[in-house]
Amino acid sequence: MSDITVSDINKNLAQIQERIQRAAEKADRNPAGVQIVAVTKGHDASVVRSANEVGLDRLGENRVREGLKKMGAVDDLPGLQWDMIGHIQSRKAKLVAPAYHWVHSVDREKIARYLDRYAGEEGRILPVLLECNVSGEESKYGFDLSEEARWTDWLEQVKTILAMEHLSVRGLMTMAPWEADEDIVRSTFARLRRLRAFLREELPAGSWEHLSMGMTDDYEIAVEEGATILRLGRALFGPRP
Ligand SMILES: *Cc1c(COP(=O)(O)O)cnc(C)c1O
Repeated sequence: MSDITVSDINKNLAQIQERIQRAAEKADRNPAGVQIVAVTKGHDASVVRSANEVGLDRLGENRVREGLKKMGAVDDLPGLQWDMIGHIQSRKAKLVAPAYHWVHSVDREKIARYLDRYAGEEGRILPVLLECNVSGEESKYGFDLSEEARWTDWLEQVKTILAMEHLSVRGLMTMAPWEADEDIVRSTFARLRRLRAFLREELPAGSWEHLSMGMTDDYEIAVEEGATILRLGRALFGPRP
């Protein structure tokens, strides 16, 4: 059981919003261009209810089944959006496509193919982000794009995914390296933004609006570097039980 209260979450959210505002001003951005995905992984469904009470209606889960269970437990709440943010095993793609509203973690062509197929069976179009490993950290999932000289080699694969009828690619997602210094985090996020600029140039037919980057420890840097979606867990809900 998580013992975080609605009032705690409200306070945390107010502080986060203030920090987003400041970071956005620093970067000459409109803070309204930054959305929050409230990452409820590790917490039970009661936290989703509390989050919903303070107006957080976009939830993130990194495990397919854990998320599905929570969705079932709060299916009386209208208007929630569920984002899959974690690595998806191929055999779980058929569970993701009908239930989740967005997928941040399309990290290989194969999972795109599966999601496209199952979204098609549901007669829907699934908005997705391409997860990119731009830091080169080996433990990270994502398309390996740490060497800018090889970005061009990636384009064929991106074109294949863009052509999938039941996926709608909306941008890119990344994670900063664990426990990295601020300058490394910043350069990782800046590189994702450059990668988006590259894609906009090379594949202008695509919709490259979104950069999903920034978590509890680095979201202000992410906002300064152009994040449009932050994935926040501990900053909102405290340590995971
Ligand atoms: C857990 C998780 C987050 C949120 O992490 P916090 O540090 O708690 O903000 C964001 N993105 C992904 C992919 C995660 O797995």
